[in-house]
Amino acid sequence: MADETGVLVVGEIRAGELDSTTRELLSIGRKLADGVARPLAVVLLGVNLENPSREAIACGAGKVFLAEHSLLAEGELDAAVVALEQVCRQVRLDIVLIARTEAGRELGPRLAFRLGVGLAQDAVALGVDESTKRLLVTRPVYGGNAMAVVTLPSAPQIATVRPKVFEAAGKDPGLRGEVVGMAVEIPDSVRKVRVLQKVTEQGAGTKLDSARVVVAGGRGLGGPESFKELEELARVLGGAVGASRPACDAGWIDHGRQVGLTGKIVTPDLYIAVAISGASQHMAGCSGAKLIVAINSDPEASIFKEAHYGAVGDWRKVLPAFTETVRQLLI
Ligand SMILES: Cc1cc2nc3c(=O)[nH]c(=O)nc-3n(C[C@H](O)[C@H](O)[C@H](O)COP(=O)(O)OP(=O)(O)OC[C@H]3O[C@@H](n4cnc5c(N)ncnc54)[C@H](O)[C@@H]3O)c2cc1C
Repeated sequence: MADETGVLVVGEIRAGELDSTTRELLSIGRKLADGVARPLAVVLLGVNLENPSREAIACGAGKVFLAEHSLLAEGELDAAVVALEQVCRQVRLDIVLIARTEAGRELGPRLAFRLGVGLAQDAVALGVDESTKRLLVTRPVYGGNAMAVVTLPSAPQIATVRPKVFEAAGKDPGLRGEVVGMAVEIPDSVRKVRVLQKVTEQGAGTKLDSARVVVAGGRGLGGPESFKELEELARVLGGAVGASRPACDAGWIDHGRQVGLTGKIVTPDLYIAVAISGASQHMAGCSGAKLIVAINSDPEASIFKEAHYGAVGDWRKVLPAFTETVRQLLI
């Protein structure tokens, strides 16, 4: 073993900086590392990693393992899995944390398979068992209707962690850490997919994931044209439009707008749910909102159990008046 650490965070880099999900993992990773009384480290894959390395140390990583290779430059997953396996085999590890992002959802199971260990997916809470010092992973089961706490008998214990459930670690430029270069061999033959072009979504206005206000619509909207009214309210409030799964499945709005267990997790200051019943799988994506406002014609709709404010009525009548009032208040 070349090195030793307790908790290893698999870093993701976006536009040359640490992704916010990595900073979230570093904040919970610090607590877990303290719980097992072992160091916290991050592994970064790619090229030109000086800036994210400095950031990771400022966010609390005692050590940064750098796996630099030209085949990792475009974030291709086949190469990343090979590199990650090699790093994990060179370092003595208790726990590996991977953000459940698009890349993480694929990396987690592939890494666990290669290392021959177990994996707990979609952690929404993490802790350490006082007596055994083993990781305790809380994750949704039965489509989000119940929570299970699981442990992993193998080592390292790997968990993918749901974004936005932990606060991102703050940056303290005064913190010190060590940067360790890791030799990784990636044969060209592992490359099964090549990135030819990257196209950034030209989504109008604010991004759903980071919006402070989300106006979301459900099946009760009745069709795609109704989303125009939600867009108008979102525009007035400087927010983004979200949707329930049936609205996306019906093709009324892009799947990238889906909020919920199998969609995006959002934690805005204000979540306005229009004609959404409040199924647990939908609420899994928005219950972290500071304030939930629901508009629904059914007074018994379960959304009202979670909403802080609610209007019972036909959204076609409530929403235009609501938007107009907000517009007046903001003038
Ligand atoms: C494994 C799994 C994963 C899932 N993942 C997700 C997910 O990520 N996101 C998600 O959203 N769902 C998900 N679902 C589906 C989820 O269980 C619900 O079926 C879905 O959230 C319901 O969407 P809805 O509230 O838009 O529709 P409905 O449940 O049909 O509710 C429509 C609501 O609109 C109201 N309404 C109707 N007309 C009006 C009107 N004119 N004015 C005001 N209100 C009106 C009705 O009273 C009703 O409450 C998942 C399900 C499973 C099994």
